[in-house]
Amino acid sequence: MDRRKFLSSVALTSAALALDSEARQKNEPAPSGKRPVLISSANGFVGADGGYAMLQRGFDTLDAVGFVLKVQEDDPTDDSVGLGGLPNEEGVVELDACVMHGPTRRAGAVGGVREIKNVAAVARLVMERTNHVMLVGEGAQRFAVAHGFPRENLLTERSRKIWMLWRETHSDQDTWGPGVSSPDWKPPVPVPPLKPQALKEKVDDLAVRAASLGIEPDFRMAAAHRVLFPPTGTIHCSVVNEKGEMSGGTTTSGLAWKIPGRVGDSPIIGAGCYTDQDIGSAGATGTGEECIKICGAHTIVDNLRKGMTPKEAALDALERIVRNHNRSMDKIRFLSMQFYVLRKDGAYAGVSLWSHDTDGKRRKFTIHDGNKRFEESAYLLEGTPIDWPKTPDLNAKSPANA
Ligand code: ASP
Repeated sequence: MDRRKFLSSVALTSAALALDSEARQKNEPAPSGKRPVLISSANGFVGADGGYAMLQRGFDTLDAVGFVLKVQEDDPTDDSVGLGGLPNEEGVVELDACVMHGPTRRAGAVGGVREIKNVAAVARLVMERTNHVMLVGEGAQRFAVAHGFPRENLLTERSRKIWMLWRETHSDQDTWGPGVSSPDWKPPVPVPPLKPQALKEKVDDLAVRAASLGIEPDFRMAAAHRVLFPPTGTIHCSVVNEKGEMSGGTTTSGLAWKIPGRVGDSPIIGAGCYTDQDIGSAGATGTGEECIKICGAHTIVDNLRKGMTPKEAALDALERIVRNHNRSMDKIRFLSMQFYVLRKDGAYAGVSLWSHDTDGKRRKFTIHDGNKRFEESAYLLEGTPIDWPKTPDLNAKSPANA
């Protein structure tokens, strides 16, 4: 090839790539020439390269999903899943997960599992080695042990200390925390109204208490935040390979400080994850109870089936959540919901209820289509879930609605 031809072929390739990326951004069908696409919650960034390489090398799509999920389950610093997940109110980590395999149209799930770290793999075994779809609690744990999974203490020292910070400070009606004879004791004060100054004082107070529990300096503010606003956290991943085969999976430690036995949307097929080999795959992170009530992931895939784009499909699902609360911002501002949508042709969208997360950062998701990156999520409402005192006007046009 001569230099001129070479340069024009580079220009054509770049133009094609630019077009491709533009079309995907607008969530239009990907142009011909499919290639693998992997979408996940932002915390899937670390495992996305490995998962993508598996798709390229022809591994089963669920192997690639399983890889991305396991990376986070194994990471003790991700306190939203697996090892080091934030525990329930009794200080016990309980994990939930589900997977769906497009080509064989099968599903597996586990809920409320203790002492087993890689629950997404256990969910896959429920799918492959039983005639059931879901196992919970002790039965799921025994099933995992029978399949060779080790029992482990999933509570890291850091997660235990944050739990203790919550335990000692969430109520003045019990005897956890220093008592009256302690020099640190302070008479109980009524719970302050959620005003910025009162909130700041509460955070400062929690940071001092965090220091006394031995939480490392860099993490004290984050620990205070987790106590005041019990975090949810999860990893979802959906993929499509070159042949158009799809799989999806979601794994989580669920809502921090939950009532023992509480199960959110993550292991519920059709809520935290849904994959339909003919149409697409979707998953969710955020306030699980809200997602369950609208069958979030299934609603989105069904919206795709009706011809909506991935972004429209997820915005419609978010609208249903808003509608469930009669559009009352007094309630909606306490909710968080993120959806990840992948259509069979490779078109995708990350869509969030709120534009920003609780630390004021723009909501993002991970995408890998040969180029791994974060993209900013589309959104229904401008602001953060705890955007106080200013609450957005639901009737105002948000960029997502424009
Ligand atoms: N959806 C999960 C649950 O409710 C938590 C999360 O995604 O943050 O258990």
